[in-house]
Amino acid sequence: MSGQIIFVGAGPGDPELITLKGAAVLREADTVVYAGSLVNEKILKMADHAVFHNSAKMALDEVLSILKRDYLAGKKVVRLHTGDPSVYGAVGEQFRELDKAGIPYTVIPGVSSVFAAAAALQTELTMPDISQTVILTRDAGRTPVPEKESLELLAAHGSTLCIFLSVSDMEKLCRKLLDAGRSPDTAAAVVYRASWENELIVRGTIADIAEKVAQAGIKRQSMIVIGDVLRKDGALSKLYDSEFATGYRHHKFRGRTAVFALTRQACLKAAEIASGLSDAMLFVPEKFADAVPDLHTRTFASGQFGETLDSNWRYFDALVFVMAAGIVVRHIGKLCEDKKRDPAVVVCDEKGSYAVSLLSGHIGGGNALAHDVARITGGRAVITTASDVQDLPAFDVFAEEHHCVIETPETLTGVAAAVVNGEPVEVEMPARLFKAELSGYPAVTLCKARTDGLILVRTAGLELRMRQPRFVLGIGCRKGISAERIHEVTARVLEENGFFPEDLSVVASADVKQEEAGLLEFARKMNLPLRFFQAEQLNAVEVPNPSEAAQRNLGIRSVSEASALLAAGRNARLYVEKQRCEDVTAAIAGGDHDS
Ligand code: SAH
Repeated sequence: MSGQIIFVGAGPGDPELITLKGAAVLREADTVVYAGSLVNEKILKMADHAVFHNSAKMALDEVLSILKRDYLAGKKVVRLHTGDPSVYGAVGEQFRELDKAGIPYTVIPGVSSVFAAAAALQTELTMPDISQTVILTRDAGRTPVPEKESLELLAAHGSTLCIFLSVSDMEKLCRKLLDAGRSPDTAAAVVYRASWENELIVRGTIADIAEKVAQAGIKRQSMIVIGDVLRKDGALSKLYDSEFATGYRHHKFRGRTAVFALTRQACLKAAEIASGLSDAMLFVPEKFADAVPDLHTRTFASGQFGETLDSNWRYFDALVFVMAAGIVVRHIGKLCEDKKRDPAVVVCDEKGSYAVSLLSGHIGGGNALAHDVARITGGRAVITTASDVQDLPAFDVFAEEHHCVIETPETLTGVAAAVVNGEPVEVEMPARLFKAELSGYPAVTLCKARTDGLILVRTAGLELRMRQPRFVLGIGCRKGISAERIHEVTARVLEENGFFPEDLSVVASADVKQEEAGLLEFARKMNLPLRFFQAEQLNAVEVPNPSEAAQRNLGIRSVSEASALLAAGRNARLYVEKQRCEDVTAAIAGGDHDS
């Protein structure tokens, strides 16, 4: 009888970082061929009755002959690699030879040292505005690297670099990074033996990391990470930005959602949907509980769907049903009361191809939720409410997009109905807002261009009043920054967050920046007054994203967020949290300030 060959990733070193599956096969192994000193002995000990071979000093032929021999003798052979076998594990040639010999094998993945290093550094390797790409590479050594992949070429992309097998000549490596055009200030770190008891972390920049590594005496077994993702005050991840909805100019649904399913396939789809929504509870039949995650899941006994739905109807802002629309319509008919109180209802087929907004589409947010569900499943949203379909303005959506406070919410529904019925609408608002949002609708006329923040919408004897706060741009920047650079970052931050440059009324910063020529020139060109605040004033403001670096260098916890909030005056609120783009940070606050 022939045996088994299993390639196993041992993980980076910590014996708890091998997978459960890897540990289980090791426990039963008869033969273990392990890759040298980066496999922890404590992991080898898991294989208590195996014969061990260290492959560090073996040629490929020798490794293969042990694998083949023991396989043919009917043994369970584990080929243990550090980290994950697929990364610099030289497994390709072993697979090829086993294929040639017609010997089967399986592979169990492992935690690569690149991820153990990221964990040790407590960093996200892909940070918005800094880099969305990670390159795993090595410098050319005994193993040559294809010319097109030389470090000089790869580094020029500006992506995060994770460099294996290359710590022995850091000076040469850093020279190549500089030759590639990377700034000497770029953050760099070296993690020696990540996840081992003697793990060591050295942090610096491309300019000084080589010297620091030499001082620490590190010559091998290290991961090198290059990139400003290592600076902790990076931009806020767009994934967690509540305004962010991929590919749509729709606002995300923000309420509590129940997701119901009845069949096994539908339960899987429902679990996918629930995990993509911000606050969702999954309801599945008891018999499919094993198919979905436990967390935020409730089960109901067979035949209890209707009762479960009845008793939960009022407790959720929305319900998503992954099932035939007929089942839903029959059940919810008797539960519906009126459109101000009824939850939003979205129905989705079990493949996720369509997300139909069935109830409370507009005010209840069902349309937004249908778009969210469609985005999660990769399907299409089906919307039937008139203003969306006729492509008419919806002032509740307008208010949200332009950060307006609605002063007369009671007129919102009446105005919406009049708009859908084709009643003429008169508005008073800033001309730029009218031009950008409403000039395409023939029924809407601008009867007065206002600049005092007040927005009025009149139709069918009703008036809807909204108010836009006055916005302040808070700026933090490095010394010697150019006005163009501040302008470039500001333009992007405004655009990404639905602001116009004209929405701004003040630029604010810390008083240590009073002489910063680029900042002064930027404000002059934007025709905006500048306000500066002292460290004590800034430090007294509570901000969501204080910066360690600013605290260290300037003794100030936050420049952009705190100065924007201070200048915003009464009712100050942060509308855009700190956005960091290498050398500039920007934040936007709004309030009732006068200038
Ligand atoms: N397959 C392994 C990599 C093998 S090549 C993996 O996925 O991690 C060996 C190189 O990996 C080392 O030179 C070093 O650059 C890196 N490495 C492996 N284990 C490491 C650890 N615990 N800490 C830091 N780097 C490690």
